[in-house]
Amino acid sequence: MKKKQVVVVGLGRFGSSVCMELFKLGHEVMALDMDPEKVENIADYASQASVADATDKSQLKALGVRNFDQAIIAIGDDLQASVLCTLMLKEIGLEKVWVKARDLQHKKILEKVGADRVIQPEYEMGIRTAHHVDSEKIVDYIDLSDDYSIVEMAATEKIAGKTLFNLDFRVKFNCITLAIKKGEDVNIAPHPDDVIGVGDILVVMGHRNDLKRLEEKRL
Ligand code: ATP
Repeated sequence: MKKKQVVVVGLGRFGSSVCMELFKLGHEVMALDMDPEKVENIADYASQASVADATDKSQLKALGVRNFDQAIIAIGDDLQASVLCTLMLKEIGLEKVWVKARDLQHKKILEKVGADRVIQPEYEMGIRTAHHVDSEKIVDYIDLSDDYSIVEMAATEKIAGKTLFNLDFRVKFNCITLAIKKGEDVNIAPHPDDVIGVGDILVVMGHRNDLKRLEEKRL
């Protein structure tokens, strides 16, 4: 895995968890906040932690942020600071600037000023939670577009002992099984003869409606 160099701006709950996790994953992380206490608290969980006003281009330049691959801006409440920081980092030339937004209006402004990705943690987590409540069989999912998703579904007794060939998701539901997870073991190119066990996780791609049909009828 290539080690990434990431600047994390704003060390609230979101920013500090991004920073600590990236550092734990072995990436080089520079943590910035204008609050010295926040910087001190993160110092052991980042490659470098500095007090800075992230809307001040000269301070950002002096810290050498230009040499970083990517930035995550996690300033939620101060809309002006979040927008200005996005502009500064794009002007300095960072290729990927991901920004946390408070709401849809904030998101739209950030996209206009050049944010490469806008994250709305509470909104996105709310949707995920709703999906988990909707179906307890769905372990996780990724939306590929408005219509297509990849979902992880837990296999029940209903299909245990059957092979992918028997199940024939492709013809019956127009869905493709990309992988089968058995505990830590991930079979990324499942064979038609592979047998499904109870509790196996099937990673399936298809149209939302087909996936729903598959989940209701087959699992
Ligand atoms: P949380 O992730 O906890 O929900 P939040 O969305 O409430 O956070 P804020 O508390 O507004 O976000 O900001 C997060 C951090 O960003 C704070 O620690 C704050 O000090 C820092 N911050 C705000 N403005 C700037 C700035 N101009 N430069 C550097 N850091 C800043």
